[in-house]
Amino acid sequence: MKADLHMHSTASPDAKVDPIDILRKMKAKGFGAVAILDHNSIEGSLRASKVAEEIGMILVRGLEVSSEAGHIGALRVEEMIPRGLSPDETVDRIHSLGGLAVALHPYRMSTGVGEDVVKRCHFDAVEIVNGFTSDRRNGKAKALADSLELSYTAGSDAHYEKEMGSAYLEIEDSSDADELLKKIESGKGSPGGSGLGLGGSIKAAGALTWEWMARGFRRM
Ligand SMILES: [Zn+2]
Ligand SMILES: [Zn+2]
Repeated sequence: MKADLHMHSTASPDAKVDPIDILRKMKAKGFGAVAILDHNSIEGSLRASKVAEEIGMILVRGLEVSSEAGHIGALRVEEMIPRGLSPDETVDRIHSLGGLAVALHPYRMSTGVGEDVVKRCHFDAVEIVNGFTSDRRNGKAKALADSLELSYTAGSDAHYEKEMGSAYLEIEDSSDADELLKKIESGKGSPGGSGLGLGGSIKAAGALTWEWMARGFRRM
């Protein structure tokens, strides 16, 4: 089963696809599970979770939290975690809510938490393929996960329809989100898809700089 574990819906200020459309479109692409992780918002994943079963998809609830050090994925979380906390406290809060703390795109410039934070905080998993990060930085993330014996996640980080499913985890069939996350935690997933090659990286850096300028030089 294919699981895209990092997607953005219209609940993110910079993304364009409705959360329910994400489920329908990903099912049509042959995916069995998705995690909708909007920037500092739980609303999109909660909306999708109400209809996921009906559509025949597994939906992992959660969000992408902007910690002081960078972006942290909170999987299996149904409550807001405020932005701007230290990475240690963000990870603690995720754990106290019963969730999985994921170091998303840890080597991405400015929004990744970086190697030292991954080593120091008690993350459960590292995102080893992010569809919007260079293959080189994704490779470093995998090496880091392996050296710390952390589980893998992978996801497209799609903000637009054309990007959906570009990176994913291939994992045994699961009947619900809990079973899927247990398999992820026990290290059963293998990555599929890819990040950005060199041309794509330059294009993405340009697009990210442009969006950042449009937001008045505020980080997402
Ligand atoms: Zn991010
Ligand atoms: Zn993201």
